Amino acid sequence: MYDLAALREEFPVLSTCIYLDSAATSQTPRCAVEAMNAYFFEYAANHGRGAFRLARRTTEEYERTREHLGEFLGIPADHLVFSRNTTEAINLVARGICWEKGDEVVTTALEHHANLLPWLALRERGVRVKVVPQEGGYVQEGGIQEAVGRATRLVAVNHVTNVLGTVIPVEEYAQVAHDAGAAILVDAAQSIGHMPMPRTDLFDYLAIPGHKGLLGPQGTGALYIADPDTLAASCYGGGMVADVSHDQFTLLPCPARFEPGTPNIPGVIGLGPAIGLVKALGVGAIHRHEREVGERIHAGLSAMPGVTVYSPLGSTVISFNVAGMAPDFVAVLLDQKAGICVRSGMHCAQPLTQSLDPRGTVRASVGCYTTNDEADALVRAVGEIAREKATA
Ligand code: PMP
Repeated sequence: MYDLAALREEFPVLSTCIYLDSAATSQTPRCAVEAMNAYFFEYAANHGRGAFRLARRTTEEYERTREHLGEFLGIPADHLVFSRNTTEAINLVARGICWEKGDEVVTTALEHHANLLPWLALRERGVRVKVVPQEGGYVQEGGIQEAVGRATRLVAVNHVTNVLGTVIPVEEYAQVAHDAGAAILVDAAQSIGHMPMPRTDLFDYLAIPGHKGLLGPQGTGALYIADPDTLAASCYGGGMVADVSHDQFTLLPCPARFEPGTPNIPGVIGLGPAIGLVKALGVGAIHRHEREVGERIHAGLSAMPGVTVYSPLGSTVISFNVAGMAPDFVAVLLDQKAGICVRSGMHCAQPLTQSLDPRGTVRASVGCYTTNDEADALVRAVGEIAREKATA
């Protein structure tokens, strides 16, 4: 059984507000905070750099999270590189591929800036970027197949869109990319921890957030690299080398070669038990719960005069607008009237969001800890705001 009351005990902050911005970042459970406290208060040292007891324990705990994440995703832990966030994971790929002039990246009109700007920035090196159009939050039928060709080096797509919550058939696109001899990168920022994943070993690169569906602390993420030899290191320094002289250096294998410098040790150590919590709840159960709450919000807002809902039914990321009101103003009112935290504006996906409304949207997103009562409170508060606007 999905014990929501017990789960919410893990997140004390939830008693102070109605948090509906989990698509941006999740609240952090006690078990993660306690693991970070233990690191700071009991054994803090640097990772992989010491023979003394504290340093050994730090390295063990840090590497334990890598093992957990690998097990959780069904991929080998030594193909997982820790990063600050999803954005950095994607940039590791953009900077690590040895691009040639004329190479092409195929992406879609549904992407977060994190999965668009790194590719656009490559254009000055002669890389071409093709953006496949979208329709109603989905990639245009046959669009990827049509866009992928002999020059395509990489297909870069998100799995669940952060504006509309629509699910993209990334397994099918992996096949299309591989049939054309191209690689595929999947931005899993909105899916991992929220829903059962397709077989992750189908992808060449998987950009993983630690601080969203996995409930880890902010400043955590990872990149899965199927074949580490396809990427060069793009940041250099200590901890990544086997041998150094003044003329040359030999790099360590993955993951060390992609993790120079002192990483976010407490964050990664906190991420381990957070993944444990997600595992204990079960992603299938989390998905069912989040969908139920999402559908409640969707039904309530869709039936409301003066409110436009952009996300399809079944989504757990619900974008909407109140007629005649700026999204930011609606977000401020929701906070003032009912302590409801929602995102407003472009959601770092300006092309997609502006295609819905040039001013952006209000976005309510559900987490594993969101209740039906919170969904109802949002619907009531939006209803009040819409009525006040209509009668003003
Ligand atoms: N891609 C998508 C689809 C996202 O929703 C987000 C976060 N909103 C990102 C990438 C960027 O994630 P991060 O903040 O972990 O860099």
